[in-house]
Amino acid sequence: MFSFWEKQSVHTYDFAVIGAGIMGCSIAFELRQKFPDAKIVILERSLFPSGASTKNAGFACFGSPSEILHDVELNGENKTIEIVSQRIEGLKILQERLGDEKMGRTSGGGYELIFEDINYKQKIDRLNQLLSPIVKTPAFSDVSDKIDLFGFSGGIKQLLSCCNEAQIDSGKMMMNYWNLLRENNITIITGANIKKVEDDIIEIEGSSNDFLKAKRIFICTNAFIKDILPGINIKPGRGQVLITKPVKNLSFSGSFHFDKGYYYFRNVGDRVLFGGGRNIDFLNEESKELVINQKIIDDLILKLHTVILPGKEFEIDQVWQGIMGFADNKLPHKVNINSYTTYAMSCNGMGIALSPFIARELVFSI
Ligand SMILES: Cc1cc2nc3c(=O)[nH]c(=O)nc-3n(C[C@H](O)[C@H](O)[C@H](O)COP(=O)(O)OP(=O)(O)OC[C@H]3O[C@@H](n4cnc5c(N)ncnc54)[C@H](O)[C@@H]3O)c2cc1C
Repeated sequence: MFSFWEKQSVHTYDFAVIGAGIMGCSIAFELRQKFPDAKIVILERSLFPSGASTKNAGFACFGSPSEILHDVELNGENKTIEIVSQRIEGLKILQERLGDEKMGRTSGGGYELIFEDINYKQKIDRLNQLLSPIVKTPAFSDVSDKIDLFGFSGGIKQLLSCCNEAQIDSGKMMMNYWNLLRENNITIITGANIKKVEDDIIEIEGSSNDFLKAKRIFICTNAFIKDILPGINIKPGRGQVLITKPVKNLSFSGSFHFDKGYYYFRNVGDRVLFGGGRNIDFLNEESKELVINQKIIDDLILKLHTVILPGKEFEIDQVWQGIMGFADNKLPHKVNINSYTTYAMSCNGMGIALSPFIARELVFSI
C-alpha cells in the first residue's frame, strides 16, 4: 500500500514511458520540450538500457544502396525515400541533441561491398537523384579503386561510398542520453519490469507497490512489445555481433555493409567489429533469447578470413547478441491503442537513425 508521501510524489505521472532505449529516451525528451512542467517518468526493467540500443554495432547510417533498393522492391520508391529521409533527419536530431563527444561519434565514412556482377552505376544514379533534395552531395558514389587499399579480398566487384556515414559508441551515447534526461527533470526508474498496462494503470512485476498511474503511457519496448501487448504483430530478430582483439596493421577504417545490409563491419580503433548474417538462419534468429547461433558466428569468422582480413592473424575477443523488432512491411510503427496508450517502434534494425525523428513526430501530434 502506498504511503501518503508516495502518493504525492511517486505514484502518479502526467506521462510514463516504458523502455529506456533510444526510442523511449527520445519520446521523453520531446515531451519535456513540449510540456516543460509535466511530471515524466521512464520505467526500465534493466539496470541500464539493455535492448538493441546498447547492443548494436554502433553505426550512424541511413541505409546502404542494396538495402535501400531492396526496400524499394518492398514498399516502392516514394515510401522508401520518405523513410530514408526520416533516418537522415533522425541522425541530425541526435547529433544536435547530444553532440559528437557524448555519442562517441567519429566520421570514418561508410561503404558498401558489392559481390554480384551487376553494375550499380545506373541504380545509384537513380538513388542519388531521388535523395538529392535531402542530401546535397551525391548520397552514393563508386570508389572501387579503394578495394585493394583497404586490403579486402573474396571477389568484391565494386565498392560504393555512402556519404555522411559515421560510427558511434552506443553505450556512451545511451548513458549520456540518460544523463541529459535527468538534467531535464525526467525520472528514470530501473528494475521496473512492466507486466500490463490498462487505461492509466501500469502494473509492475514483483513490486510491493505494484502499480503506478499516468495520464498518458508510451510503450517503447521494441522487440518485447508482445509481453505487454500480445496482439501486436512485431517479430523479434536477433543480431549476432563479434569483435576481434586488436589487429596488427589494420588497413581500413569506417563502416562497411554488404548483402542488403544483412552484414556490417567497422573498425573500433584497431579492432574489427562484425555483425549480421541473420539471413542465413532466419528461423532460429526470430528469437528473443540472447544466445549464440554458432552457424552464424562460423559464417562471420569465415568471412573475416576470406573477405575482410585475408592473410591477417586475428583473435575473437567477444561475441554478443541484440534483439531487434521487425514489422512485416519494414515500416516504423506508432499506434494509439486508446486515449491512454501509444506504442512506438522504429523497427527493422534502423532505430538509431529513425527513433529521434519518430519521437518528434509522435509528440508533435499529441
Ligand atoms: C546487431 C544490431 C545492429 C544494428 N544496427 C543498426 C544500424 O546500423 N543503424 C540503426 O539505425 N539501427 C541499428 N540497429 C537497431 C537499433 O539498435 C534499434 O532499432 C534501436 O536501438 C531500438 O531502440 P528502442 O528504444 O526502440 O528499443 P531497445 O533499445 O530494444 O529498448 C527497449 C528497452 O525496453 C526495455 N524493456 C523491454 N521490456 C520491458 C518491460 N516489460 N518493462 C520495462 N522495460 C522493458 C528493455 O530493457 C530495453 O532497454 C541495430 C540493432 C542490432 C541489435
